[in-house]
Amino acid sequence: MSGIGVGGGLNNLGNTCFFNATIQSLLYTPPLAAILDRKDHSQRCRLKQSHQWCAFCEMEIILSGTRQNKRFSPSGMINHLKSIFKKVEINLLSLSWVDKKILTNFYVTL
Ligand SMILES: [Zn+2]
Repeated sequence: MSGIGVGGGLNNLGNTCFFNATIQSLLYTPPLAAILDRKDHSQRCRLKQSHQWCAFCEMEIILSGTRQNKRFSPSGMINHLKSIFKKVEINLLSLSWVDKKILTNFYVTL
């Protein structure tokens, strides 16, 4: 993970600064960032394949967006905030144990 740099920030979409700080902390947690960088999840995500929104896929998008060194709007995550917990439960069936452990930490952090 060395040499990645800070990356771009996240736009505040209205009282989302604490949420953004949490997301940014997660994005720069090396094991999670490594998984998100590989984009393995989104390539096999059942929700994405059925054109549904997925929090883990959204994290891949946000990380990719912040790596462009421009401010990124996490609107996809904010717009689906109320449904995150339902989606996480559904998506657990398709995750590896590593993904489940990281997602559990993500779940607890939120
Ligand atoms: Zn997904």
